[in-house]
Amino acid sequence: MRKRIAIVGAGAAGLHLGLYLRRHDIDVTLYSDRRPEDYRTARLLNTVAHHSITIARESDLGVNKWPVNENGYYGHYYYVGLPTPLRFYGDLQAPSRAVDYRIYLPELMKSFAELGGRIVYEKVSTEDLETLSEQYDLLVVCTGKAGFGSLFQARESATPFKTPQRALCVGLFKGIADSPIRAVTMSFSPGAGEMIEIPTLTFDGMRTALVMENHIGGELEILSQVKYEENPRAMRNLLLEKLHEHHPSVAERIDSRTFDLARDSNDILQGAVPPIYREGSATLNNGQTIMGLGDVMATVDPILGQGANMASHAARVLGEEIVSASAFDARFIEHVEARREDRVICATRWTNYMLKNLKELPPEFQKFIGTLSQNREMADEFTNNFNYPEKQWDYFSSIDRLMAWCEKYSHQQAA
Ligand SMILES: Cc1cc2nc3c(=O)[nH]c(=O)nc-3n(C[C@H](O)[C@H](O)[C@H](O)COP(=O)(O)OP(=O)(O)OC[C@H]3O[C@@H](n4cnc5c(N)ncnc54)[C@H](O)[C@@H]3O)c2cc1C
Repeated sequence: MRKRIAIVGAGAAGLHLGLYLRRHDIDVTLYSDRRPEDYRTARLLNTVAHHSITIARESDLGVNKWPVNENGYYGHYYYVGLPTPLRFYGDLQAPSRAVDYRIYLPELMKSFAELGGRIVYEKVSTEDLETLSEQYDLLVVCTGKAGFGSLFQARESATPFKTPQRALCVGLFKGIADSPIRAVTMSFSPGAGEMIEIPTLTFDGMRTALVMENHIGGELEILSQVKYEENPRAMRNLLLEKLHEHHPSVAERIDSRTFDLARDSNDILQGAVPPIYREGSATLNNGQTIMGLGDVMATVDPILGQGANMASHAARVLGEEIVSASAFDARFIEHVEARREDRVICATRWTNYMLKNLKELPPEFQKFIGTLSQNREMADEFTNNFNYPEKQWDYFSSIDRLMAWCEKYSHQQAA
C-alpha cells in the first residue's frame, strides 16, 4: 500500500512521529509555521522535562543528542509548606532531562530533514485541510492552534474543568545553586500554589526553570500578571519575596545578587493552560478522516510534566500503526486508539486530580502526602511513576485505591 503522510505542526508530537516514519522509509511531509532559525529569538515556549521513557524513544530515533550524564537529573525533592514543613526525596530509576525547546525542536527538524523528510514552511489553516487530505493518504494534525482544536470533538467525561486551574509564571533563571543531588524540586505552598524547579539545558548551559503554578485568586496570582519588561528590578524583587515566603527550599539556594532571567526578557512566559481532552480523529466535510496527535488531543496543565511525554508515546503508537497498516480506515483508528488511549487519558486524569487535590487538600490526600513523606520506597515509586501515568492513576483513581497504597507502605514502615 502506498503511504504518503502529511503532518501539520513541527512540535514534539509532529517531529517524533515524522522521525519514526522516516526511520521506516515512509514518505512524510511536515508543515511548519516556524523555521529552525526562528527559535533562537523566540519567547520561551515551555519548560519541558522528558522522562527516561521518552529519552529511550529519542535514542531509537537517533535524536538523543543531550546525554543524561551531563544534562539529566536523578529524582525529585519534595517540600510541603505545612506548619511543620515536610521535606523528602524520591529517586528516578533512570534520569530525566530538560532541554529548552528553542534548542530541541530545531535540532529535531534538522535530523528529520537529514533522514529525507520534507518540511514545507507555511501556516496551514483549517480551510486547507480538505485539499491536503486529498493529496496524502493520511493527514495528522499536531497543533491545536489556529482553530484546529475545534475540529476534534471534546470528550466531556475526561474534561472536568472548563477553565484553566492555575495562573502560570514560568521562566529560565540564573543565580540558583544546584540541590545536593541534581533533581527537580516540587514545592507545595498550601492555599497559594505549587512550584516545580527543573535543571534545564539552555542556550547558556545548565540553568534553572521555575514553573510557578499559582492558585487563581490567591496571593501568588500576581506573579502571572506583573511584566518583567516594564520593570525588571521590581519583578526580581517580587519573585524573591514570594519565593522566600512560599517556596523556601528553592529560595534558600538563590543568590539574590545574581538571580535574574537566564538570558533576556524572552525567558519568561506568563499565562494559563486550558485543559481539554478530545477525540483523536475527526471526519472532514469531504469525508476524509484525519488524526489528531499531541496537545490537540489532550492538553494538560504542566504541573506534572506530562504533555510532551504523552505526545511522544502517542506518536510512537501512531507511527507503528501507520507502518503496519494495510488501510487507513475505521479499523486502523480503533487500533491506534486502543493502544494510545490508556496512557494519555491516565496522564490527563492524574494531572486534573492533582490540580484539584493540591488545592483542596482533602483528608485522604493529606494522608497520602503524610505517608509519602515518611516512606522512601513509596516516594521512589511515586517519583519513578512520572514515567508511567497509567500506574499512577491505578493508585489515585479512587479513595479506596489510594488508601490501600498508603496502607501497604504504612505496614512496611511498622514492620
Ligand atoms: C510551561 C510549560 C511547561 C511544560 N512542561 C512540560 C514538561 O515538563 N513535560 C512535558 O511532557 N510537557 C510539558 N509541557 C507540555 C508540552 O509543552 C506540550 O504538551 C508539548 O509541547 C505539545 O507538543 P505538540 O507537538 O502537541 O504541540 P506544540 O508544541 O504546540 O506544537 C505545535 C507546532 O505546530 C506549529 N504550528 C502551529 N500552528 C501552525 C499552523 N497553522 N501551520 C503550521 N504549523 C503550525 C507550531 O509552530 C508548533 O511548532 C509544558 C507546557 C508548558 C506551557
